[in-house]
Amino acid sequence: MSQFWSPIVHSLTPYVPGEQPKVDKLIKLNTNENPYPPSVKVIETLKQVADDKLRLYPDPNADALKQRIADYYKVERNQVFVGNGSDEVLAHTFQALLKHEKPLLFPDITYSFYPVYCGLFGIDYLTIPVNDEFAININDYPQESGAIIFPNPNAPTGKLLALEDIRQLLREHAHKVVVVDEAYIDFGGTSAIALVNEFNNLIVIQTLSKSRSLAGLRVGFAIGHSALIEGLERVKNSFNSYPMDRFAIHGAIASFDDEESFQTTCQTIIDTRNELTNTLEKLGFNVIPSAANFVFASHPEFDAEEIAQKLRDRAIIVRYFNKPRIDQYLRITIGNNDENTKLCAALKEIIC
Ligand SMILES: *Cc1c(COP(=O)(O)O)cnc(C)c1O
Repeated sequence: MSQFWSPIVHSLTPYVPGEQPKVDKLIKLNTNENPYPPSVKVIETLKQVADDKLRLYPDPNADALKQRIADYYKVERNQVFVGNGSDEVLAHTFQALLKHEKPLLFPDITYSFYPVYCGLFGIDYLTIPVNDEFAININDYPQESGAIIFPNPNAPTGKLLALEDIRQLLREHAHKVVVVDEAYIDFGGTSAIALVNEFNNLIVIQTLSKSRSLAGLRVGFAIGHSALIEGLERVKNSFNSYPMDRFAIHGAIASFDDEESFQTTCQTIIDTRNELTNTLEKLGFNVIPSAANFVFASHPEFDAEEIAQKLRDRAIIVRYFNKPRIDQYLRITIGNNDENTKLCAALKEIIC
């Protein structure tokens, strides 16, 4: 009954998330989830939150969580915005800060939700090709533009842009907002949060979904100048007063309270990433150096989609994007040791 739709709905091309299979026992390396459980402190906290207070609305401002994040990153509470996953934080950012007369710029190979938000909010955009090594070159952004957004490390390549380059980009674009989407920064990069007090045009967005093993809790946040955060609050409060439920608020606080399990998990994933990179290279794959919890790899002799299908036949799912420039690459999430061993064995069978 699509004749009843608002006109804009006809023009939308929604984001397609990686598959969440309904059968168990699959080795799931397709959506960059963390293979390790969240901190036991988070689980304990969530059990305690399950009480009769659930009849009450949560704090609409989630102040306790904002304060915990502010303390962790040594900024002020009014420099922190929180949302129902960083996808929601990104949505509010697009609407509140990135819709201008001049186009928004982002790399051609990047998080595929960006063009989707542009469609939803009617934002004019221009994509800037990453170079042949899939790197973002900050000198490629001289066009007239209203704002700039990119992930760091980039997705789905895992390529990291140095903090010095981000600083220079912020300097050269001091009169427009620059958004750095740091979904994977904890796996080996240095956060641009270090620059938020130096630049009033910078917004850094992070998520608890990847490095903190909490994709199912839906918590993301943004850090930036208080005036930018106020813009986000205005949009949020025009949309949903209570995006953060009691579980999300208290579970997220507990996660920041367990630094040890966070550090151990990140380091284990980095070690496994290095092992997997070595194995892939021995099998003849070209592997983009990754600073994330996945690797992006192609093989000169074997078709990427075919490898993905053969892995699937062996109950391992990885992500394949049928898109220009990257249709010969696979994005493989770093699993636990057992999953990694099985992946490597399956690839050895396929590549021979
Ligand atoms: C996973 C991811 C997100 C979204 O994370 P959620 O907090 O789970 O919504 C945002 N940006 C990038 C680049 C991602 O890879």
